[in-house]
Amino acid sequence: MNIYLDNAATTPLHPQVLEAMTPYLLNHFGNPSSNHGAGREARAALESSRKRIATLLNAEAEEIIFTSGGTEADNIAIVSAVTANRIDHVITTVFEHPAVLQTLRSLSQQYHTRISFIRHDKKGNLDLKHLEYLLMTNTRNLVSVMHANNEVGNLNDIEFIGDLCEKYGALFHTDTVQTMGHYRHDLSKLKVHFLAASAHKFHGPKGVGFLYCRKGQQLNRIIHGGGQESGARAGTENIPGIVGMAKALEIACNHIEEDSKYISQLKSSLAGNLTEILPDLRFNGNSAHPDKSLYTVLSVSLAPADIDLLHYLDSEGIAVSGGSACSGGSPSLVLKALGADPARITIRFSFSKFNTPEEIERVVEKLAAVYNSVAA
Ligand code: PLP
Repeated sequence: MNIYLDNAATTPLHPQVLEAMTPYLLNHFGNPSSNHGAGREARAALESSRKRIATLLNAEAEEIIFTSGGTEADNIAIVSAVTANRIDHVITTVFEHPAVLQTLRSLSQQYHTRISFIRHDKKGNLDLKHLEYLLMTNTRNLVSVMHANNEVGNLNDIEFIGDLCEKYGALFHTDTVQTMGHYRHDLSKLKVHFLAASAHKFHGPKGVGFLYCRKGQQLNRIIHGGGQESGARAGTENIPGIVGMAKALEIACNHIEEDSKYISQLKSSLAGNLTEILPDLRFNGNSAHPDKSLYTVLSVSLAPADIDLLHYLDSEGIAVSGGSACSGGSPSLVLKALGADPARITIRFSFSKFNTPEEIERVVEKLAAVYNSVAA
């Protein structure tokens, strides 16, 4: 029996999503820019998916731009803010995904954009007074703060940050890749200008995502070519992927309360059982805090073991992560910023509604065996 506990890296496709996509892979294969029946059919699917996503988020259809995923959505938002809106100072955090940090790095080299990092405490809580100070003492600001961190699961108060940005006339971008479909987002209330999301984190297909861009905000394209997506993103749209993403978001939003309750129980059961059997267990960031971290992520720090723990779990058919899937084996900057002891072992367990309590029990048993303790 294989156990998949790496849902922050990617989630399995929901069977109903595959069902919704299949006709667009097999029969309705038209190009949405073509002026014939097959093209019109594809365009209708494209626009109805846009409308469905916008409705679920209380946004307007024209504010949704389809992309190849979260990375591209983050890139377009940040590059546009800097190049089209004359932003010369970006306020961000050390906890952002490389899709944000590497884009900022490139902009600072190309345009000399200044970057400031919001201070944080040892759990990773952001110092929002420092953010306010940075907003007060600079003009032409973009704030880029993720809703939740992908490695340790820390949640940020994007409502409060959005209000601060409005107060000081700053643009606000947030990466919601880890929370879209898992938390409710009401974009008629959230004071955000740009927001990035990715389908494969909520049981949709890989290689497709979207950027929300508030009406009136200018976008500068980063991929040059045809006039697709109202000129904001060139390239033939991935119709099966987009149809699948709309379906996946609809399913996720329709079941958010029951799914979050179920998954939270899995997380707290694993945290509780591991605490009992592993006396030296620590939690990274706010991971153990039910209100300050994602209910889908539990990041633990374990005493050094005699064996390669991740390899051992993998050989037992248990898929977990050592940090995030995107760090490519290099030491995690997020864990470093949290002052994690490099001699200890980090495991990120990340859950979905397709996991079961039996799977959690089995993981506890396997870890208990390594540390020679008795599974609860
Ligand atoms: N932002 C965050 C917080 C993520 O966790 C990820 C993927 O792990 C991304 C962005 C990139 O998304 P994508 O894989 O769709 O490019």
